Amino acid sequence: MSSKILAEARLNAVREATARQPRRFEQQVGGTPGVVSSFFGINTFSFSAMKERLPKPIYTRLMSIVHEGSPLDSEVADAVAHGVKEWALERGATHFTHWFQPMTGATAEKHDAFLDVNELGEAVERLSGAMLLQGEPDASSFPSGGMRTTFEARGYTGWDPSSPMFIMNNESGATLCIPSVFIGYHGEALDKKTPLLRSMEALSKASCALLAATGETDVKRVIATLGVEQEYFLIDRAYHTLRPDLAIAGRTIVGAPPPKGQSLDDHYFGSIPPRVHSFMQEVEHELYKLGVPAKTRHNEVAPSQFELASIFREANVAVDHNQLVMDVLKRVAVRHDFQAVMHEKPFAKVNGSGKHNNWSLATSDGENLLEPGPTPSESLRFLAVLSSVLLGVHRYAGLMRASIASYRNDFRLGANEAPPAIISVFLGQSLTRIADAIVAGDAMGADAEAAMIELGVGKLPALIKDNTDRNRTSPFAFTGNKFEFRAVGSSQNPAVAVTTLNTVVSAGMDQVRTWIEAGVKAGKSNEHAVFAAIREALTESTPCRFDGDGYSDEWVAEAERRGLKNLRKTPEALDELRRDSATKLFSDYGVYTPAELQARYNIWTEQYCTAIDIEVDLLKDVVDNLVVPAAFEERADLSGALIHLLDLNARGVTLDFAPEQQRLEAIGELLTQLNASKVIMLAARASAHEDPHAYVKTVVPALEQVRVAVDALEGIVADGRWPLPKYREMLFFQQ
Ligand code: ADP
Ligand code: MG
Repeated sequence: MSSKILAEARLNAVREATARQPRRFEQQVGGTPGVVSSFFGINTFSFSAMKERLPKPIYTRLMSIVHEGSPLDSEVADAVAHGVKEWALERGATHFTHWFQPMTGATAEKHDAFLDVNELGEAVERLSGAMLLQGEPDASSFPSGGMRTTFEARGYTGWDPSSPMFIMNNESGATLCIPSVFIGYHGEALDKKTPLLRSMEALSKASCALLAATGETDVKRVIATLGVEQEYFLIDRAYHTLRPDLAIAGRTIVGAPPPKGQSLDDHYFGSIPPRVHSFMQEVEHELYKLGVPAKTRHNEVAPSQFELASIFREANVAVDHNQLVMDVLKRVAVRHDFQAVMHEKPFAKVNGSGKHNNWSLATSDGENLLEPGPTPSESLRFLAVLSSVLLGVHRYAGLMRASIASYRNDFRLGANEAPPAIISVFLGQSLTRIADAIVAGDAMGADAEAAMIELGVGKLPALIKDNTDRNRTSPFAFTGNKFEFRAVGSSQNPAVAVTTLNTVVSAGMDQVRTWIEAGVKAGKSNEHAVFAAIREALTESTPCRFDGDGYSDEWVAEAERRGLKNLRKTPEALDELRRDSATKLFSDYGVYTPAELQARYNIWTEQYCTAIDIEVDLLKDVVDNLVVPAAFEERADLSGALIHLLDLNARGVTLDFAPEQQRLEAIGELLTQLNASKVIMLAARASAHEDPHAYVKTVVPALEQVRVAVDALEGIVADGRWPLPKYREMLFFQQ
């Protein structure tokens, strides 16, 4: 009975999802919103809002705090607090919160009312500089990876003035959000933002020193820039509520692949369905008000998969923007009766979702250091930066891999739809030719200008501009004037990957600079020394340069011959964090102390095991309470029918009952198989003892075996009895 009721609900969900109408835009925004520039950023306390509202000397001091890292003082804090409070109250905010990015994977907030009571007992609105500067959420429940014991679990949030404050509007009110770092009592980083900011400092320092060594001594600050492309699925809420796995694990842990799948690729860049279009418009409207420059939107490869990309910004601001993008996608989706699914692999055998991190370096004047200029000296600088990136990524490829490691992303990497777990770099034809020539020693001995001309480097800007060769299979690709780290997962906070990237590149730069300095000391001209250092860096990093098909088996074999790491799954990848070289690198650059790095290893390992534990419990529940009852009912019905047929045969009506009998046997066999695999799964988990290597070796494959039996049953049990929305319904049957 119960299965029938659930199957009925499933079919109702299909009716509901296919009948929905798009939400009208006027309904969303209460009238026509006008041109974007007229309301862009109205909910952010931007630098221009600050300039307007703060006394001039305060504003000037604040800018030097933001741009030069001068220390914050209480006078500035008081003035900013007063200014932002007035601004927020005018916009209807009643509360404020420090908004931070702990190690949980989500953002966190703890709201306080502006309300206070003065000495006369009257209500007043208050936000002091001290309150702006520091908050103290009850931190004991945030993961610290063992850095704190509960009794000293104090954590502090601290205003990060480099990212603008904003107002988050909800159906039920408005809150002023203060982007913050989150640190422990002794200053230890308990979040993802603090190390990111530290890594940006390190990178700025290393970049300026490298530029100085190449002869460019006037650059005082270099900023890592980041543009994030966010992929996601939209699934109708009616289906989502009937899929406990999507709700709890974020992915379908069972489900037979659809007959059509994505084989026809007719969704990719196709016209956006009206209901989705209306959703995207509302998302963008919300983001624009928050000052997030959402730029592109389109259908992605898989059915019901989409992408939103924002315009790049300083990496720390772009990270905040991406957190807001994910948050707004989820909140607005509900208004449109969708669920925004951000998991890296929500549907087996259907393309998963990534988050491409487009990354580059810019001087404080906005000059892109990865944009090759037309003159020989600009080309030399470009090659010095480029080869430093290659060197850093090559030397610390294991850390790059670790920075994107998660149980979820494991389903995607190397699954012939996403870059492999091997970290390689794609440069494209023209650059590869030049890099190869430099390595081979061409043009050495000549002066740098002649060398550049001989190599065709002077023509680089033009060459790279028309060079449209793209490689979707590379985890880390040069795309004209930036690198694209494509292996990052859709649900991951980009801060982690960018922190590692900034750090390894800093190390690459310091090495190249050291080589240059040694060359000059040995009597080489500066240009010559730079050229020789570039050559050295390109030579050492040659093995990680790869322009071929990263999805192919040949590459896996070739990478092994080249001695590249292939850290297929998360536990192996996380082990990289425990190497002495990792501890040394991160502490040398002041990004993670040894204790902070160890804590991250602990947290990510625990999160890995916990994610699998949750799926084991969930799968057991789905099997016992949804799948098996449906299969039992199917079997009972079939055996009833079979008895009837046998009875008729006994009475001389000859009927072929082989199909019924085979089907009955198949169900029986699958139920046996299902039961056995479930027992194996539970036993594997019981003996894994929190060891991630045991999880990956025994528990993960056992989960897969249970799924195989469930999916086979889905193919046999009558459609009208199957309790879970099917892939074809979730992915194709919605307006
Ligand atoms: P495509 O990958 O299709 O060429 P775009 O050129 O639109 O896409 O860029 C993709 C992303 O890269 C966008 O988020 C864009 O803002 C970002 N981007 C462009 N230039 C830079 C840069 N210098 N630094 C960081 N990100 C950048
Ligand atoms: Mg891209």
